[in-house]
Amino acid sequence: MATILVVEDEADLSNLIRSHLEADGHTIRQAFDGPGALALVAEQAPQLVILDWMLPGLDGLAVCRRLRQEHLMPVLMLTARSEEIDRVLGLEVGADDYVVKPFGMRELLARVRALLRRVELDTLAPDKGAAAEEGMAAQDGVPPAERPIVRGPLRINVADHAASLNGESLDLTPKEYDLLALLAAHPGRAFSRDFLLQQLWGYDYDGFDRTVDTHIVRLRKKLGPQGDAIATVWGVGYRFNG
Ligand code: CA
Repeated sequence: MATILVVEDEADLSNLIRSHLEADGHTIRQAFDGPGALALVAEQAPQLVILDWMLPGLDGLAVCRRLRQEHLMPVLMLTARSEEIDRVLGLEVGADDYVVKPFGMRELLARVRALLRRVELDTLAPDKGAAAEEGMAAQDGVPPAERPIVRGPLRINVADHAASLNGESLDLTPKEYDLLALLAAHPGRAFSRDFLLQQLWGYDYDGFDRTVDTHIVRLRKKLGPQGDAIATVWGVGYRFNG
């Protein structure tokens, strides 16, 4: 069960989405324009944002870019323009997924479930087969946030703050561990150096962009051939492919 923010200015559609998500067990907040969405995110810290592209005031792209500067929650974009999908999912906007209007509610719910599973919040309907496919070890009785993250031969034991590769434990510094865990928990998403610095070192950190780079270099070395999973995104930062 998650708190989900629905950002859509068409009230009928917003309410329809709301009723289906509520039937799925989620708590719904609604915003009807861009500034309202940003205010609600700051106030309610939703676990997922469903964001329409066409909004009055500040459009969905601008809202998504703003969210991406400070937040990790997945963003599912609603768009009427299938030709713009590359921009939506690309670094320019950084949404995690999209559905093209008009869409069916079953499709929307399936996307929502997949995104929540990815962030380990979908505890409502545990589907062990699908969870394993998403790279998460399904374990009864283990809080979702403490479940291991498994990406191929790499296993991150979140509960122990430890990682292993092909069953052999990796000798990581706390910051290397944090960096690996953050990237691997969000496969396919590009993170800027600034974002990583702020998340892992804090806003007060007085270092340089190179701090992230040097940690990435050391982390890749420790991961051996698997280090290639941490891709450099030119001009932006880093992404875990897996
Ligand atoms: Ca709209």
